[in-house]
Formats: sequence, structure tokens, C-alpha cells
Amino acid sequence: MNGAARVIRGRLLLFEDEPRLAGAKAVRLIENGAVLVDDGLIAALGEAPDVARETPIGAKTDDYSGKLILPGFIDTHIHYPQTRVIASYGAQLLEWLQKYTFVEEQKLRDPAHAGVVARFFLDELFRHGTTTAMVYCTVHPESVDAFFAESERRDARMIAGKVMMDRNAPEALRDTPELGYDETKALIQRWRGKGRLDYAISPRFAPTSSDAQLEASGALAREHPEAYVQTHLSENLAEIAFVKELFPWTKTYAQVYARYGLLGPRTVLGHCIHLEESEVGLLAESGSVAAFCPTSNLFLGSGLFDMRRLQAHAPPVRVSLATDVGGGTSYSMLQTANEAYKVLQMNGQSWPAAQAFYQMTLGNARALGLDDRIGSLRVGGEADLIVLDSSATPAMAHRMEAVKGDLAEELFILMMLGDDRAIAETYVAGRPAKSAAMKAQRGADGDP
Ligand SMILES: [Zn+2]
Repeated sequence: MNGAARVIRGRLLLFEDEPRLAGAKAVRLIENGAVLVDDGLIAALGEAPDVARETPIGAKTDDYSGKLILPGFIDTHIHYPQTRVIASYGAQLLEWLQKYTFVEEQKLRDPAHAGVVARFFLDELFRHGTTTAMVYCTVHPESVDAFFAESERRDARMIAGKVMMDRNAPEALRDTPELGYDETKALIQRWRGKGRLDYAISPRFAPTSSDAQLEASGALAREHPEAYVQTHLSENLAEIAFVKELFPWTKTYAQVYARYGLLGPRTVLGHCIHLEESEVGLLAESGSVAAFCPTSNLFLGSGLFDMRRLQAHAPPVRVSLATDVGGGTSYSMLQTANEAYKVLQMNGQSWPAAQAFYQMTLGNARALGLDDRIGSLRVGGEADLIVLDSSATPAMAHRMEAVKGDLAEELFILMMLGDDRAIAETYVAGRPAKSAAMKAQRGADGDP
């Protein structure tokens, strides 16, 4: 014990497995529970009196009795340079990129501005209960340095990478196959494994990379098999037609990534909406992860993600849930689950709350291969936790009165009505991070 030990009391929600496959035994609730955190890790957890016996004298206690304690949410696809793009009116993907995103991303060439945006972004994640994210930076290495430096300072587990683009983007946002390769390599060496940081090789998507750049990206993935790969796939029909024009040799969009060795169990592909059957097979057999980004898919009018189709394939496609801010319209994983539920309803698919909460925590940790460290409450795991208040707003409190102790209903209320107001506290590496973020935002000069 190093003296920074802290006990967090509340109702512990434990996921032992995936509810969709394991049924009711996948979820366990300890009503009078406690978690002892020390030195960034979970040192003990269980019934509060049992944890009290293991607690060193002088440890702080944060009493959240009656509130739910869960692992922090994990967001598997988000763009930190787009904090000032979110909620930009009236365009579908390709126009939206040109009109809003590519304008804003040019500003992150300035390290001071990138630092301001990185601080704001991490504050927002913590305020909304997200403790780990897989993040796109801009083409500028300065934007990656700013994001990783701020993440390291906060001891947060984050994955990020420099976007590579060598065509179909403004001059100021383009690199070249050689430059993208060299800068990525240097960033991997500078940041990967520092603190709790990891790197994602990030060709933005096929339309903005030449064959040569995708080939260089594949070489990076081969040379750094422990790093991640992130990109976008099959979001919008005009995008798919554009890919077939740019790569006349290919039959499908996914085949472009497959050819250059960019699919695999460390690869996360945003969207995956309009997939041909052979593409579903490519994703499944390579173990690639499809990131479902419902608020973005609705906002940009992209289409409806077909979870059942991907999970029913043999072998199944691995899926995750993500906000895709700024195409997505909320930093909140609760609101993202809300919209995911509705998208699935439009396809005649149901999504029980237990499955949604599993996906936002352990499910997304498994998608990133990080379930040995985050995504569940267990001794030895990293102490990234959130406290949820199911009665955070008058509408929630009023609705909760009708529930009478039914956990499934309570979780469903949280995901349909909850947002940042339902996050009572976020702990990152065992330290309160939501209250710290709010203090920082109040104290900031208001920009951005
Ligand atoms: Zn995206």
C-alpha cells in the first residue's frame, strides 16, 4: 500500500461473460459492495465488510451507497480533432469531410492548439464516464504528441494514431506514403508502451490513401504486429462507389484492406454497414472488429448497422460500440447505447440492457484485446471505474420509482435516459477524474 489507497462503496455490477451467450449467470450484482483501489489497481473488491477488513488505516472512503459501480466505458472509435465539428449541419459523409472536418483538422498543426483540444477532449471523455478510447488524431505528428502527452499526464489507457492521407484531401492535410510511414514509425517508437498508451496505425480510409500508402500501412502493421490498425469501412454508398472507382482492380471495399494486410485481430473498422457477403467473410476470418457507431450513422444518414447478421455468421464477426465523435453526436456511451438500441429495433433486432452494458465495458475490452487489464471489476485489474446514478434527473428518478429493484429495468433506464449527468464520478487509475475535469473546465479560459 502506498498511502493513496481509497475505498469506493456502492453496488458493484460484475460481468463474468457475455449475457447474449451465457444468460443470467453472466451478470452479478453486489448490493452492499466496495472496491479498494491502490496504486492504480484494484486491490480488493466484494461485500463492503469483507473489503473493510483488507483496507489499510488512513485510506479514504468515497461512499456511493445506492449507486452502481462499473468498469469505465470504452469507446472504440472517436476523432479527437473533431470537438468543434460535432453537430455540423446537413451533409453526408464525403461532403461533411470536405466542408467541416478537413477545415478544422488543419488547425491541429499548431501544437499549442492541439494541446488545448486534447485537454478539452479528455475532460469530456472523463465527464461522460469513458476511461479508454481508440482515437484518430490528424495527419500532423504534433497532434499525436499533444494527445499522448496529455493522456500520459493523466495516467489514462488510450490508443491513438496519426491519420495518413495522401490524396482526396486538402494539400495541408496530405502526407506521402514515405512521410506517413516514417512519421508513424517514429510515433510508435516514441509513445507505444509509455504509461498506458498504445498506438493505432491509421490510414484514414481507402478513398484518402493511394495503393502505395496502403501498402506502406500494411508494412507498418507487419513490422509492428503488437500495434493496432484503425480505419473506416463501408459507411456510405457514395463512398463505396468511390472506392471501386479509385481501386478498379477490386470487387469489394474490404478487399482493398485485405490485399494490403490491414485486416486482423488488432484491426478496428468503423461502421461496416453496407457489406457484401464476401466482406462479412473477410472480417470474420481475419478476426477484425466492426465498430458500430449509431449516432454517427443516423446523423450522417449512412445506414443501419446489422448486428445480427455479423454475429450470426460462422465464425462470427467481432463487434464493438463507439461514438465516432464528431460524425457522432454524443460523447456519452449511454446515449450511444440508446441510439444503438433504436437502430437495431429498425432492423427487428432486440438488445437487452445487460448486453449493452457488457458491450460498453468487457465487450469493448475484448474487442481491443485488453480484457486482462480493463473492462471488468477484478482484483489486479486497472482501477478505471465509474459510478452511475440511476436517478440523476427528475425524469429518471420518477421512472425509477416504478422499477422496484429490477436490475434489467434500471440499466435500461440508464441507457435510454442517462448521459453525463448520470455519471456521479469517473476514476482513472484509481483517482477521481470527472470532478477533476469539471474543475479544470470551470477554471479554463473558456477556449475552446
Ligand atoms: Zn470515424
